[in-house]
Amino acid sequence: MEDCLFCKITAGEMDTDFVYEDDKVVAFEDVNPQAPVHLLIVPKKHISTILELEEEDYSLISHIYKVANKLAEAEGIAEDGFRIVHNCKEEGGQTVFHIHFHLLGGRSMQWPPG
Ligand code: 5GP
Ligand code: ZN
Repeated sequence: MEDCLFCKITAGEMDTDFVYEDDKVVAFEDVNPQAPVHLLIVPKKHISTILELEEEDYSLISHIYKVANKLAEAEGIAEDGFRIVHNCKEEGGQTVFHIHFHLLGGRSMQWPPG
């Protein structure tokens, strides 16, 4: 999609270093990390919010969780634990309207979230 930052990043147009890539998703470090490990797992397909998921996209979401588990192991945060965050629309805190999942770890997380 034109003018979508994460479409440009996933297409490799922004020179972003990917920590993971396959045919469906990429993962890279968040530019404004909120924890010692803060990766974004982003599908290559443009989907604005999870409300726009079509039937064929639900398998992509399971794939993202599979990748998150692999990355948590690779980043050394699987043993102590980590958090996966998805923000949806304005009140959920979404700022980039191309779905993505935050993988956060390396410190104790608080609850409730802000
Ligand atoms: P959201 O607020 O939509 O859940 O998350 C968007 C995330 O993307 C934020 O954590 C923000 O720091 C990150 N972000 C925004 N622009 C860029 C960018 O150009 N590069 C990278 N690596 N992360 C970005
Ligand atoms: Zn996009």
